[in-house]
Amino acid sequence: MASHLKKTLPVKEWQITIIDQEKTHYYQPGFLFLPFDIYKSKQVKKSIKKFIPKGVNLLREKIDRIDKDNDQIHLDNGASIDYDILIIATGTKIAPQEIEGMLGDHWHQSVFDFYTFEGARNLRNKLRKWEGGKLVVHISEMPIKCPVAPLEFAFLADSFFINKGMRDKVEITFVTPMSGAFTKPQATKELSYLLDQKNIAIVPDFNIEKVDAANNKIIDYGGAEVDYDLLVTVPTNMGDEMIERSGIGDELNFVPTDKATLQTKIKDNIFAIGDATNLPASKAGSVAHFEAEILTENITRYINGQELKKEFDGHANCFIETGHGKALLIDFNYTHEPVKGTFPFPGIGPLSLLKESHMNHMGKLAFRWIYWNMLIKGRHIPFVSATMTKAGKEFEKEPA
Ligand SMILES: Cc1cc2nc3c(=O)[nH]c(=O)nc-3n(C[C@H](O)[C@H](O)[C@H](O)COP(=O)(O)OP(=O)(O)OC[C@H]3O[C@@H](n4cnc5c(N)ncnc54)[C@H](O)[C@@H]3O)c2cc1C
Repeated sequence: MASHLKKTLPVKEWQITIIDQEKTHYYQPGFLFLPFDIYKSKQVKKSIKKFIPKGVNLLREKIDRIDKDNDQIHLDNGASIDYDILIIATGTKIAPQEIEGMLGDHWHQSVFDFYTFEGARNLRNKLRKWEGGKLVVHISEMPIKCPVAPLEFAFLADSFFINKGMRDKVEITFVTPMSGAFTKPQATKELSYLLDQKNIAIVPDFNIEKVDAANNKIIDYGGAEVDYDLLVTVPTNMGDEMIERSGIGDELNFVPTDKATLQTKIKDNIFAIGDATNLPASKAGSVAHFEAEILTENITRYINGQELKKEFDGHANCFIETGHGKALLIDFNYTHEPVKGTFPFPGIGPLSLLKESHMNHMGKLAFRWIYWNMLIKGRHIPFVSATMTKAGKEFEKEPA
């Protein structure tokens, strides 16, 4: 947003400040590849400073709370900052403390996450010497960022153990609170087929109550149990505690936001973007990127006293790594679920939707370059529009 706004707002009238507590920005999609030694640690992190546009202030501070009534941010160090317009972009993070028994001596020993840099790196060290057994890949509750990442983890685990010549020593089970492999029915059908093909068992409708680490099992509210030797879990995802302290979030600390304009429901001069919102869109980098293009225009409209454009349609575009050098691509929005077809050029591709291909895998690997060089810098990706296009997609005919 800072990159977009730096180019859009008159320099003499507007001062842009980014407040972030971290020195390092992580390429989180790379956390999927780190455990399998496909990416090295240094490929997934860079200094935040590298990405701050000229003329934009960077404050490396933790935000304690937002005082919406006085248009002020209170920092952890006691200082405060006034604002005319605020964009909340504090993302989401894992909250393993929300599940009874998830944290303890076993955390990052037999129970791992791969949604943090530390988790993914510790899991890599574990997988390097693990001799096999029951691997359970688990989602605690929805929504989570990148809802396909746990499935991708299961697929990559299958190909990792085949390559190591020990697939027969590993039983892989995918445990989810959803009633199928994914949130959308058509994609679920394709993905269930792949799970079956790769001999990955699925336990759906599993609403975890606790981790019984002493007995290596997870237990759900209905009393169902799943045994594990190695549990790779995606804990509850929550917005930052600062949102709760500010009294502006829902029960998971996500910010109530208008799903089409990206203006929050807290106050007219507060907007939100990315994983921090409560939008019914996927929490994904691609979504944040599309939102930014639309939010930039709405910020200008807000400043000029014009009506905001109700333009964001929930557009998400995600590669799903399926192992053995292949991937699927899905493109969807609030109203259209992923279907087969070609992307970005109708009838040409070169990427195929909802279908495994090597080209899609190359796309997934290229995404790291696109992320560092285009997404973070707010550059438009040629031929990929912020809202979803229908051309080249095989939608079923609307019922009469
Ligand atoms: C394993 C994994 C795989 C993924 N794969 C994909 C993929 O293939 N494609 C895709 O599009 N997306 C993917 N994603 C999701 C993507 O990484 C996120 O959706 C994206 O990073 C969200 O961006 P954001 O700016 O909203 O939040 P973040 O990138 O999380 O940034 C939030 C920032 O806010 C700062 N912050 C938070 N609280 C405070 C505070 N109190 N004070 C100061 N600073 C604060 C943090 O330090 C952080 O820098 C994946 C995520 C994971 C974990």
